[in-house]
Amino acid sequence: MSKGNIKVQAENIFPIIKRFLYSDQEIFLRELVSNAVDACQKLKTLSSIGEAKGDVGSLQVEVIIDKEAKTLTVRDNGIGMTGEEIEKYIAQIAFSGAEEFVNKYKDKAEGIIGHFGLGFFSAFMVSSKVEVYSKSFKEGTEGARWICEGSTDYDLQPETKETRGTDIILHLTEEAKEYLEESKINELLNKYCRFLPMPIKFGMREEGEEKVQVDNIVNNPNPLWKKGPADLIEADYNDFYRELYPMTFEDPLFNIHLNVDYPFNLTGVLYFPKLKKNLEIQRNKIQLYSNQVFVTDSVEGIVPEFLMLLHGVLDSPDIPLNVSRSYLQSDQNVKKISNHISKKVADKLEDLCKNNREDYAKKWDDIKVFIDFGSLSEEKFGERSSKFMLFKNIDGQYFLLDEYLEKIKATQTDKDNKTVILYTHSEVEHHAYIEDAKAKGYDVLIMDSPLTSHLLNKLEQSTPDISFKRIDADTLDKLISKEEAQISKLTKEEEEKLKPVISSQVEAGKFTVVFESLSEKDKPMFVTQSEFMRRMKEMQAAGGGGMSMFGNMPETYNLVVNSNHPLISKILSETDETAQKTLAKQAADLALLSQGLLKGKDLTEFINRSVSLMQ
Ligand code: ADP
Repeated sequence: MSKGNIKVQAENIFPIIKRFLYSDQEIFLRELVSNAVDACQKLKTLSSIGEAKGDVGSLQVEVIIDKEAKTLTVRDNGIGMTGEEIEKYIAQIAFSGAEEFVNKYKDKAEGIIGHFGLGFFSAFMVSSKVEVYSKSFKEGTEGARWICEGSTDYDLQPETKETRGTDIILHLTEEAKEYLEESKINELLNKYCRFLPMPIKFGMREEGEEKVQVDNIVNNPNPLWKKGPADLIEADYNDFYRELYPMTFEDPLFNIHLNVDYPFNLTGVLYFPKLKKNLEIQRNKIQLYSNQVFVTDSVEGIVPEFLMLLHGVLDSPDIPLNVSRSYLQSDQNVKKISNHISKKVADKLEDLCKNNREDYAKKWDDIKVFIDFGSLSEEKFGERSSKFMLFKNIDGQYFLLDEYLEKIKATQTDKDNKTVILYTHSEVEHHAYIEDAKAKGYDVLIMDSPLTSHLLNKLEQSTPDISFKRIDADTLDKLISKEEAQISKLTKEEEEKLKPVISSQVEAGKFTVVFESLSEKDKPMFVTQSEFMRRMKEMQAAGGGGMSMFGNMPETYNLVVNSNHPLISKILSETDETAQKTLAKQAADLALLSQGLLKGKDLTEFINRSVSLMQ
């Protein structure tokens, strides 16, 4: 029997660690189970190179709870340790790791609420006593038991052990007794150990009609992302998606299988989910693993923000895990990985758009927010997006920007040689405007993403000869102004006479009356709203620095009066003042109505007036 003393300077690391790590205490199970998995894998490797003799049998890790003894045991039949090895690896290496950790973090408690790995030492976060009972795979070695009660002193003695491998026996403290509950352990195994590469047994379960008792293996040691893409079909990816997110019923739209080994190691599979309107809820669905050990599902700062809308798994041993989050975010490896993922996502989208356009177009409406967001927030992704960003018109056709410009160039280029792209955010609200545009042979796009205004600004900057105009931003003749100007039927004096008559019928300050000489076939009056002002206000609402002054400005509109419409001449020539005002009011209300601006009391009055005009 030997007694020893752990060689650390800091006498009191136990209480410090316990206090600091309280919030993430449960990771002790992950650490112990992954040590056990490592022990099995090491033996497998040694056996494959002939250093471990004979058949190693089926390697497995087991988690056992004993409510009476108040112990939790992590058992493996891996490589095992001799007494000397326990002394060396556990008592010295593991503890010196813990000491280093404490020295590094003792002044900055918040710095460690990120990620860390304390390995074996984390057992003391939940135990008053820890035993390591082990027997090495090496022939002729005897078993040993090491006992430590949470101080720097320990006992180590030889003890017969029949089977190869290690039991880590935790005598749980009173505060940690929840880890004696099956449901708690199931939850933790499912969270942290779900894809560890060795079978993990937790109790027994019944199988089949005969209810045969079999080992309850809680993990999938061969997760899909570790397999070769060539060996997998679409259904495998969808099955794995459901394994990851059992509560999500919709299939993902498509996936990207990542498989890189140079200049860093990264595997994984990312899924494009159907995006809901509420982007926040979709976040944090990507799980980060290091060699199949779950690390986190909060990947902020590790993957670019727009990619956080994706689902799936990333696995890289090159992401340093034992450090704080702020360190992670500035880490060069992490940056490279993040750029690489963006690039892969762009590759995939480009490929789908080029080679599978019909199917891609069908999915477009569900992924466009993601692509809008990506091209606005990531420069490189934005540069490439012209190859996979689609535009949908009111006929339900989809185009790349180049293709669309080709389509409308002949009809929608104005006298300054700018090609004007007309768009609407709502076919229903802009029905009248769209009909007018169609009558002129113009095409209209549907742009209804919350980021539309930001996106259009960006596109206009990168493509100088185009300009986007919402269909209600001005009269069509002004939106796409051609050489031939219409002659006005009204003289300047007549316009001046009519202006106050019409102005007095609409809310002052909100509407400005402007005369325009349009075709007789155009409407007598309609409402427009400046593209610039509206976009600024929208960008402010969607969140954009420096736009706040626009957000505070009141909504203002133009009430455009078509000086060539017979009704306007009629209003002008009406001699009865009341009749003139009624006509002007009615025409203005109709214009407001078609823009959805006539509401409440004004709408009621309009209806009553219309009824009496008909009688
Ligand atoms: P790490 O796993 O990061 O090396 P740990 O503190 O978890 O650090 O473990 C220290 C060492 O103890 C391991 O490197 C390994 O050699 C040994 N060890 C821990 N658990 C086991 C086990 N179940 N079987 C065999 N060796 C183990």
